[in-house]
Amino acid sequence: MKLFRNIFPRADAKKDPDSLLRLFVSVALVSIIAITSLAGFAFYRVLQKNVIDSAEDDAIKVSSALSEDERARFTVASKDGTFAVEVSPANFAVLDRDLRKFLSPFDIVKIKIYSSDYRIVYSTEAKLIGEVNRGNYRLARALAGAFDSKLERKEEVKDLADELKFNVDVVETYIPIRARGRVIGSFEVYIDVTKYRQQTMNAAIMSVGSLCAILMVVFGFSFVLIKSGTNELKETQEVLRKQTLIDGLTGTFNKRQIELIGRREFARALRRREKGLADAEVGFIMIDIDHFKQVNDRYGHLAGDHLLQLFAERVISSLRSYDSVGRFGGEEFLVVLPGSDREQTLSVAHKIWSLIREEPFVVDGNPMRITASAGVANVLQDDDDLLQVLKRADLNLYQAKSGGRDLVV
Ligand code: GH3
Ligand code: MG
Ligand code: MG
Repeated sequence: MKLFRNIFPRADAKKDPDSLLRLFVSVALVSIIAITSLAGFAFYRVLQKNVIDSAEDDAIKVSSALSEDERARFTVASKDGTFAVEVSPANFAVLDRDLRKFLSPFDIVKIKIYSSDYRIVYSTEAKLIGEVNRGNYRLARALAGAFDSKLERKEEVKDLADELKFNVDVVETYIPIRARGRVIGSFEVYIDVTKYRQQTMNAAIMSVGSLCAILMVVFGFSFVLIKSGTNELKETQEVLRKQTLIDGLTGTFNKRQIELIGRREFARALRRREKGLADAEVGFIMIDIDHFKQVNDRYGHLAGDHLLQLFAERVISSLRSYDSVGRFGGEEFLVVLPGSDREQTLSVAHKIWSLIREEPFVVDGNPMRITASAGVANVLQDDDDLLQVLKRADLNLYQAKSGGRDLVV
């Protein structure tokens, strides 16, 4: 775009829509990771609790069956009519045979029976019989009347030091044994739940996977919406930014901006001059179309506008990439030529002047021959303000006009 070839100052990076979009992407990624991790953990715990609950149910069923069928073999009645958990040597063989029957078909790995004084009166693992497991708070809870189930991983340690370690995941359930409403002991049933471990894991992974996919779709959709929003915002910002710098009709800088550029170049030239550096020059050209009012009067205001656009394009085409031009008034333009000395500025002014008069402009099919007058000024040794230079350029332009127009002064 030839008209906008000047480099505009960049918008504030922190507030630009792209950085908002990047912020959204980061927030979305962090949210997806946080939500899926937390939900994955929650799913896993819920599924695990299901496994424990159903194993506990099985353990309770097994122990009530045992209580019904075998009660006489693991309880004794004392003279005062109270019961205690005890296995007499006479009952041991039958009880052991009957309890072992429960093991494999029900995925049970071990059954223990405790008396109320924490003593193991029976265990399918024979060497544990007679041990006292004081300090087992879960057993204590059972002896106080509460069921208690817990999942024990095969990697985890078991309650008794000399107890056989399982190579399986078990749910270990304590079930109180009651007689006449009083707790007189407890079963401890170990149910193998290894096969559920993979199922639990798979179900958790599938849930997390679906959740992750849903989140990606939701955030992806939001991203598309926000992206199109930020694009619109960027376009609007760009339009607004140009409006503050650019003259809407001709596409050259507006008066405020060309003055700003002139001021910047003026200050730069003074600095270089003070330091004794070369290239401490800057040239200014004021150009004004001659008898422009007549164009309006003859062809109408719209044709006048169009001519102004074509005029500006022609001026721009005769400049270097680092020169600037701005609309200073109605049909008056200011050209800033950084690094140009008096001769170079004059030669650029002549180039513009001849380009304008050489060939007619074609507006609405009407060829229009126009001329322009130019006043040229360069920064002098004792200039300390841009206005002084602009005044000289303006004065020279006035002389060109009063000298008959179609002149460079
Ligand atoms: P001179 O040779 O002395 O410069 O005569 P001139 O007619 O060019 O200058 P003058 O200042 O008398 O008139 C300038 C005219 O430019 C008056 C105004 O209506 C016209 N003009 C200013 N801005 C615009 C614009 O944006 N569009 C159009 N079409 N005309 C404009
Ligand atoms: Mg004029
Ligand atoms: Mg004028």
